[in-house]
Amino acid sequence: MGVVTDRRTVLRAGLAMLGGAAGTVAAGCSPGRSHGPTGPAASGSTATVGGTPTLGPAQSWDAFAGRLAGQLVRPTDSDYDRARALFDPAFDTVRPQGIAYAANPADVAEAVRFAQATGVGLAARCGGHSYAGYSTSDGLVIDVTRMNQVSVAGNGIATVGGGTRLIKLYTDLAGAGRSMGGGSCPTVGIAGLTLGGGIGVLGRLYGLTCDQLTGADVVLASGERLNVDENHDADLFWALRGGGGGNVGIVTAFRFATRPTRSLTLFSVRWPWSAAADVITTWQQWITGKLGVMPDTLWSTVVAGSVPGGSAPTLRISGVFAGDRAGLNGPLADLRAALRSVTPVSASIVDHDYLTAMRLEGGCSASGDICGSTAGISAGARRPGQKAASAILLTPIAPAGVDVLARQVEERQRDPLAKASGGIILDSWGGAISRVSPSDTAFVHRNAIASVQYFASYPAGAPAENVQAAHGWVRDTAAAAAPYVSDQAYQNYIDPDLANWAQAYYGANLPRLTAVKRHYDPDNLFRFAQSIPS
Ligand SMILES: Cc1cc2nc3c(=O)[nH]c(=O)nc-3n(C[C@H](O)[C@H](O)[C@H](O)COP(=O)(O)OP(=O)(O)OC[C@H]3O[C@@H](n4cnc5c(N)ncnc54)[C@H](O)[C@@H]3O)c2cc1C
Repeated sequence: MGVVTDRRTVLRAGLAMLGGAAGTVAAGCSPGRSHGPTGPAASGSTATVGGTPTLGPAQSWDAFAGRLAGQLVRPTDSDYDRARALFDPAFDTVRPQGIAYAANPADVAEAVRFAQATGVGLAARCGGHSYAGYSTSDGLVIDVTRMNQVSVAGNGIATVGGGTRLIKLYTDLAGAGRSMGGGSCPTVGIAGLTLGGGIGVLGRLYGLTCDQLTGADVVLASGERLNVDENHDADLFWALRGGGGGNVGIVTAFRFATRPTRSLTLFSVRWPWSAAADVITTWQQWITGKLGVMPDTLWSTVVAGSVPGGSAPTLRISGVFAGDRAGLNGPLADLRAALRSVTPVSASIVDHDYLTAMRLEGGCSASGDICGSTAGISAGARRPGQKAASAILLTPIAPAGVDVLARQVEERQRDPLAKASGGIILDSWGGAISRVSPSDTAFVHRNAIASVQYFASYPAGAPAENVQAAHGWVRDTAAAAAPYVSDQAYQNYIDPDLANWAQAYYGANLPRLTAVKRHYDPDNLFRFAQSIPS
């Protein structure tokens, strides 16, 4: 039996091998470009002396700290470096003036009012996994991770604190015998994931994470707190389901429909690289039902990744079947029959309970607490980085496009500056995701059959040339693949280099999103380089 490899493991593959100084900043990746130091015009309580804003007593940072039930961390505090860090070290250069750990929704409202009154820029932060660093700011970071309680009511509706990380969510739900579909990375935050859609191993069965949302508590730019659902502020509720994190308010709690837990079967088949074109083309036929019935209970992914120091890239089809392994036999036989001329390198099929499966999919051990820790996220700590871009597939990539992608992965394999893995990840969509109309929620990509992600990692402390090589490869690969994929991109794989990003993320839903934004955030308090235009 081989080891099932998931997206996160692959994204991190090859990252453990090199050392060096931490915090190398990727060119074009600094969020300093995207977060202005000031927010909208100050409301009168901020004076400017010699160009430097001075705060009146009521609006001083100290007074603000005193009004919080939670904690305000400032640059002189000993835990400042840890407090300001995001998941990716590329954003370690950003030095917020304060990080407010909100203990409750009133703290979030207080922080929003402070930002309004002082004009200091703000960013909401949950799991801190924004690819572009949009959850930090050189002004105020409003961190919601202390609001991470999960409870399940008798009707199966889970109330989930707005700062809950996925592994805690899955663990707490499983403890109540319940489950839901989310993403794979254990430290990703429920807020960013849900607000941008949320794809994961149960997506074809239960829909996007945002499709399972039944309501939310939101703090608006005015500091007002709303409880929204289909019948209350329905436009805002619509925007929260796919309109992207950080755009229209700060969510302090989510309510999700959950399902009883069920066993999940994890499978993985590794193929020889020489068969890459055949395997990728056949996988596309398989997931679109051309080889036989493709049940909603089956999600799968193809990962084609370079191996630093290796002789050839690796190629894997893996996935999750919601049920025991007997149900997987038919679909797997269809795949194997279509690829009968190719001998797999290895294969594994293992069934697990829901929580164990979600842990393994997230790259965690089957049990234990290593996933619950966020200790690895610390500015200055030596940790790897990555660059990624994405596209949505509305139809299968034509054979010529598949060849282009395979050649790109080979180029990354040959690049002496590639010190960590790079490659492509194709995830199957469809099923329940496609049964929601593109206009029913803000998430427009309902007709997708799959997504493709181009990623390149670099080791902790990698020199600039390695970082640039990773960025250059992703940029070149996205450009080379463009003729073969749609012009849509997944808003949760947010890409600061994407030119036509608003259309790519939101398409026909952009006008309605813009109207919602204008209504609920008329002064454009919640803004960053790729926030909804107002
Ligand atoms: C290793 C890794 C694995 C991933 N795996 C998956 C996956 O399996 N499926 C998937 O769909 N995506 C995946 N993603 C992408 C992920 O969904 C996005 O990066 C998401 O935005 C992360 O959410 P976060 O809360 O962790 O990030 P953050 O950086 O905290 O926030 C992201 C955005 O949301 C805003 N925000 C944060 N909290 C709030 C709040 N309470 N209210 C309003 N806005 C808020 C921030 O300001 C920012 O703009 C992955 C990303 C990484 C780095």
